[in-house]
Amino acid sequence: MTAQSWKVHKFGGSSLADAGRYRAVPAILGATGAERQAAVVSAMRGVTDDLVTLVQMAERRDDGMAALLEQVRDKHLSVAAELTSGEALAEFESAFLRDVDDIDDVLRATWLLRSSSLSVRELVSGFGEIWSAQLLAATLAQQPSAGKVDWFNAARALTVTDGELGRVVHWDTSRALLGEALDADFLGTLVVTGYVARSPDGVQTTLGRNGSDFTASIFASLLDATEIVIWTDVDGVMSADPRFVHETTIIDELSFNEAMELAYFGAKVLHPQTMAPAIERNIPIYIRNTFAPEKPGTRIAMTSENTTAVKGITTIDDMALINLEGAGMIGVPGTANRLFGALRDAGVSVVMISQGSSEHSICFAVRQGETGRVEGIIRRAFAMELEQGQIQDIEVTDNCSILAVVGDGMAGLPGIAAKVFGGLGKAGVNVRAIAQGSSERNISAVIDADDAVRALRAVHACFYLSPQTVSIGLIGPGTVGSVLLDQLAGEIARLRNDCNLDLRVRAIATSQSMVSGDGPIDLAAWRDTLGAEGVPVDLDAFADHVQAEHLPHAVIVDCSASQTVADRYVDWLARGIHVITPNKKASTAGLDYYRELREGRRRGDAHYLYETTVGAGLPVIQTVRDLRETGDRISSIQGIFSGTLAYLFNVYDGERPFSEIVRHAKDEGYTEPDPRDDLSGMDVARKLVILGREMGLDLELDDVAVESLVPDSLRDGSVDDYLDRLHEQDDIMAARLEEARQAGEVLRYVGRLSATEGATVRLERLPATHAFAGINLTDNIVQFKTARYCDNPLIVQGPGAGPEVTAGGIFADLLRLGSYLGAKL
Ligand code: ADP
Ligand code: ASP
Ligand code: MG
Repeated sequence: MTAQSWKVHKFGGSSLADAGRYRAVPAILGATGAERQAAVVSAMRGVTDDLVTLVQMAERRDDGMAALLEQVRDKHLSVAAELTSGEALAEFESAFLRDVDDIDDVLRATWLLRSSSLSVRELVSGFGEIWSAQLLAATLAQQPSAGKVDWFNAARALTVTDGELGRVVHWDTSRALLGEALDADFLGTLVVTGYVARSPDGVQTTLGRNGSDFTASIFASLLDATEIVIWTDVDGVMSADPRFVHETTIIDELSFNEAMELAYFGAKVLHPQTMAPAIERNIPIYIRNTFAPEKPGTRIAMTSENTTAVKGITTIDDMALINLEGAGMIGVPGTANRLFGALRDAGVSVVMISQGSSEHSICFAVRQGETGRVEGIIRRAFAMELEQGQIQDIEVTDNCSILAVVGDGMAGLPGIAAKVFGGLGKAGVNVRAIAQGSSERNISAVIDADDAVRALRAVHACFYLSPQTVSIGLIGPGTVGSVLLDQLAGEIARLRNDCNLDLRVRAIATSQSMVSGDGPIDLAAWRDTLGAEGVPVDLDAFADHVQAEHLPHAVIVDCSASQTVADRYVDWLARGIHVITPNKKASTAGLDYYRELREGRRRGDAHYLYETTVGAGLPVIQTVRDLRETGDRISSIQGIFSGTLAYLFNVYDGERPFSEIVRHAKDEGYTEPDPRDDLSGMDVARKLVILGREMGLDLELDDVAVESLVPDSLRDGSVDDYLDRLHEQDDIMAARLEEARQAGEVLRYVGRLSATEGATVRLERLPATHAFAGINLTDNIVQFKTARYCDNPLIVQGPGAGPEVTAGGIFADLLRLGSYLGAKL
């Protein structure tokens, strides 16, 4: 070795997709003359796949084979013509066309035989790297200041055999062969084929798919390099696979062990075997982006300064779970040993093992394609136990994925597992098996494959590695609903950045039509979208869309007054969709339904939030909950619960008849379209039912004693009829007001609720100094008397109606939900 040490770079297929990408490499490598550097290359993007496919096509005599081979040939010839010219091009072309002829011969033989041997598959699939290395060497050699550039076929030196966990490198042979082939004083750039290798008897083989990373670290070891740089198409190792999680973070530093766990459990950015040679010689590995070479990337080394507990989360698909169960295994030493020994002897790689402490069952995960073979191996190994019933069952569950949470910093830190499994639970993901290595560097969970993406996103968000994503469906974009959409539009970006909460309105439905989008609906243009793309409402399709497979949480916000919608709540809650609503219908339905709602909520582990059903945006229901949950005893709740009735009696001073005030209030939009809905007192009665149930009382609407302000004679008939004849009530009202005044009192429509005296709603005379006498306009006022607040009651007061405050209250429920789900609010 000369004094100057080697540096090994590796360029992946994604960095060598076309001529333009090859041309970017010289600038990344810098000077080629005065350094000793190796550039390990993958095949051009997609070429290995094509070569593998060609052999498969030949086996099944697929007529498309010739066209695919031609495509591969043309692609290389055209890239070569773009990159080189003259003698260099001619040299490449003649060697390349000879290779293509060889492949053609091999494919023809395979076509005849209808099968291929392993060595044929290995030989053909390795050509991509051989061509790519020549193309890059030619590109580098053309640089004006190019020093020495050679290309080297790794199959001349790198010697491997098959091992249990992948290929095993024969270091001494490889080192000796490389020493013979390479000038010890080499100075310049050596372009090395990734992926390809040789068997001890010299037959060309490979390191397995994605093996070029491994080639880089093997050569780094053989050449005694000081550094390995893996150039790819992302900025570094990310906290999760960026194809599935959109808000990933780049990990600045990883330990070798962390990187190994992440790679083993599916982080495709790095081949899992890459780390071993680097660890052996303590060579740091950098993962960097050829598309953004200025970025520092990820440094992987023996130790990492970054002490974040959870660094990354990965999933591997196509797994199956095998469960071996039987009382005969309890306390019998060596069962696990026999089981895994048999699997090892058969070369089956067991990805994860989990055994309960009762030893009643052993559960492990293998690749899905292996299940038939594995079952056979176990049946043979435990034939006697199975026959005698000591082992009762071998259960195979297909279509599983493993989710792995990785980080050195998890060791000794309590609460990490709780967070992982809490996050999975909240996202409705069923966990089939769990394993945690004693290093505490990895927590793995086996889940259904269909849940994998949702699980990945949910757990990733739990560790604040990306925002908690909530899929929202809004029903009823009317007066309140449309204001809510406006309010959301103004805050979504901030909530995402500051609070780790990603609210996505993905569906909107009116009573007639609905829109749904894969991505969030543009809240600045939802009316147009609904007009242009609206389809007839189908509440099942709506709920299915909102509860998307890939998003961790779903909520339906019902701003309609529809009974049909309210009737769905139980189903939605039971399937894990949260429900938020200002609609009183469901919460005041019969107690049986109310109990079903609670049961649905429990079954689906879903939240049902309805703060705005009482007092609009005022914190009334939350106050009852806080009091109860902190152990206070509520003796009574009373107050003015209707903004409309508050307004009528605040304004009614005898100057104008009562009927005129009602008519004016209706014109101003302070009443329901039919003012009798307010004046009948039923709206207030419903609110008392909600509060009573919140207090723990079994209250039905019929239990509330209601004084209606609609005389029996006006109860039926049209709204106009009612308004025309309303004056018939004026004298009675005037007399009640006068009577009150004589006594220095005022009239107020009051709701009262107590555990001992039940619920009443009526027009009352109150002293002018009473707290309920001095409210303004449409204010609500609610007074809580409790064991703690006994001498001086707790009072909540403020505007209790209006689209802005009601929408604000629904928004607050949405944030409360976000906070339950783990957002930083
Ligand atoms: P190359 O062709 O350079 O070897 P690969 O396609 O093999 O590149 O690996 C890079 C890809 O790995 C990225 O484009 C990304 O989609 C995927 N990937 C999966 N998991 C991760 C992760 N945790 N961090 C970064 N990339 C990841
Ligand atoms: N070209 C090979 C593959 O696609 C090896 C690699 O790119 O790492 O699997
Ligand atoms: Mg790769």
